[in-house]
Amino acid sequence: AREFHLVARPQGEPAVTDFALVERTLPDPGPGELLIRNLVLSVDPYMRGKMAGVRTYTDPYELNAPMEGGAVGVVEASADPDFPVGTTVLHTAGWRSHALLPAARTRPVNTDGPLGPSVYLGALGMPGLTAYVGLLHKAGLREGDTVFVSGAAGAVGGMVGQLARLHGAGRVVGSAGSPEKVAYLVDELGFDAAFDYRAGPVRKQLAEAAPDGVDVYFDNVGGEHLEAAIWCANDFARFAMCGSISGYNATSAPSAPRNLFQIVTKRLTLRGFIVGDDPELAEGFYRDVAPAVADGRIKVRETVVAGLENTPEAFISMLRGGNVGKMVVRVSD
Ligand code: NDP
Repeated sequence: AREFHLVARPQGEPAVTDFALVERTLPDPGPGELLIRNLVLSVDPYMRGKMAGVRTYTDPYELNAPMEGGAVGVVEASADPDFPVGTTVLHTAGWRSHALLPAARTRPVNTDGPLGPSVYLGALGMPGLTAYVGLLHKAGLREGDTVFVSGAAGAVGGMVGQLARLHGAGRVVGSAGSPEKVAYLVDELGFDAAFDYRAGPVRKQLAEAAPDGVDVYFDNVGGEHLEAAIWCANDFARFAMCGSISGYNATSAPSAPRNLFQIVTKRLTLRGFIVGDDPELAEGFYRDVAPAVADGRIKVRETVVAGLENTPEAFISMLRGGNVGKMVVRVSD
């Protein structure tokens, strides 16, 4: 088996030399264990935080040890009768070709449908649940709201915009980092307006895209985006504080937002959340979102990098905006 170890803690943007691919011979599964051949792996922004070596809401990656992350694989050898050879499972032992895990730490997934196993890493996985929980349960979307989402062409953001539309938002606005992504948001995902945050000041572009102000802001980016959303917020607007990717590689403190007093004057609610906080919401998510994905009301887009050995490149590329939709790594067929 081959597995990635973190061998150096990145300073600023991660480098491929921060990772090493290590060979290891795995034993046969012990009682209750499964040997899993990974099909697809996830690379996610939260992994950047785990590389930093300080505990945030999750433990850091240890140096010179196998890295963790979402993955879907197929059981190749089984010592649990409930998980026969050939079962497809979702688990957290990514960044490697094969995983040896207790069956209890995996979840069988259905791959009969037209969508491949990677859908459980994106639209029907952790990012999709994040969008659902943040938009509907933290920001409390109401019919007619103007919703603004940053990072809109990514895994979480694309789901936020589509769920907002399906749940009765009055206007859905997104920002992303290229003209191609802006076109994708409007033409394919049905956003009412979108803008390229690299093309001009966020505040000016947002004010034009949301002329009646913003009622719900789903923040994936932080910094200048958050400052602009506060500027454009209507009184009593609700913010789902999901991520702050503009700062993940930063080596100094951000210079924005500079207008936090407007939280008081506009009586805003900014609510931070972590996707795992509300496990009871997962059932409603699958019930609501799985059929919409299956019948095409929600569109799924992925950027697929081939080959386990390219996982660090895929991760670095995702942080730079190299993905449209969910970034995944195909490890085997
Ligand atoms: P994405 O698929 O959105 O990929 C990351 C994207 O971030 C890139 O494609 C890039 O798109 C954008 N980006 C990178 N740097 C910047 C920057 N400086 N300014 C603006 N955009 C930037 O990732 P996810 O959908 O998986 O995650 C999105 C956000 O959600 C992240 O902040 C993540 O940490 C957060 N998150 C939070 C969770 C929670 O429980 N709270 C759970 C899951 C995710 P572009 O080309 O547009 O720049």
